[in-house]
Amino acid sequence: MAALDGLPPLRDVIARHGLDAKKALGQNFLLDLNLTQKVARTAGSLEGATVIEVGPGPGGLTRAILALGAKKVIAIERDARCLPALQEISDHYPGRLEVIEGDALKTDFETLARGDPVKIIANLPYNVGTQLLVNWLLPGHWPPFWQSLTLMFQKEVGQRIVAQEDDNHYGRLGVLCGWRTNAHMAFDIPPQAFTPPPKVTSTVVHLEPIGKPLPCDPDKLEKVTLAAFGQRRKMLRQSLKPIGGEALLARAEIDPQRRAETLSVEEFCRIANLI
Ligand code: SAM
Repeated sequence: MAALDGLPPLRDVIARHGLDAKKALGQNFLLDLNLTQKVARTAGSLEGATVIEVGPGPGGLTRAILALGAKKVIAIERDARCLPALQEISDHYPGRLEVIEGDALKTDFETLARGDPVKIIANLPYNVGTQLLVNWLLPGHWPPFWQSLTLMFQKEVGQRIVAQEDDNHYGRLGVLCGWRTNAHMAFDIPPQAFTPPPKVTSTVVHLEPIGKPLPCDPDKLEKVTLAAFGQRRKMLRQSLKPIGGEALLARAEIDPQRRAETLSVEEFCRIANLI
């Protein structure tokens, strides 16, 4: 497909820079520029926005974000082989793309944002993406430094992010996301859209922070959800034993015979506020 931005097709970029996909870095590249634009559009209007992109790889999504008008993109990529390809994009959009070589899991994103409201967009290996999402959800202060998160995951992880009580996918992620964000799954992407194709379907999830989430200490909420979903088939009086069991549930006015997946976010917060 001819690129609208005048830059070479991604397949050529990958061949020229020898960017054979590395499994260890979860490299499944999205080469269809219609799809990269669709992912970028999920973040809402990017006109004049500052975007942090994690894992730009050869830059397909980066190009879409810039073409849609972002005034500044700060991109963190772990694979140094991708830097020359990203430099070409930077040269094409002078002063608008800053590339940082590094591990996103060791990056201080709030400092990178420099006080600007930022939209975060990423197509990452799912384990890195899930860990980053949890980190972005757990700061001591709220609202957070980010305006929105637009993230690609394997579909099963997306289902866990948006899940509510009484859903098989509901767990720690669903509680955390439901507590502090409005999250929705935007659309699926089939394996064959990627090079090389992964084994499973991917999905794009968009999250925006809730202005005033229920008051709750994130560390305590983590403690309760870890205990409750650590033994999700057991009744709460059993799974919550290490943190207070029946007595704690009585104070929270929650039936001790219930199981973790039946509790609403409000009920989890109620328990957390009592430990
Ligand atoms: N954004 C590109 C796209 O959509 O085609 C590449 C996506 S590929 C699934 C994931 C990218 O994340 C790769 O470029 C990989 O090198 C990078 N990556 C993997 N782990 C990372 C980490 N811990 N920190 C930063 N980048 C990472």
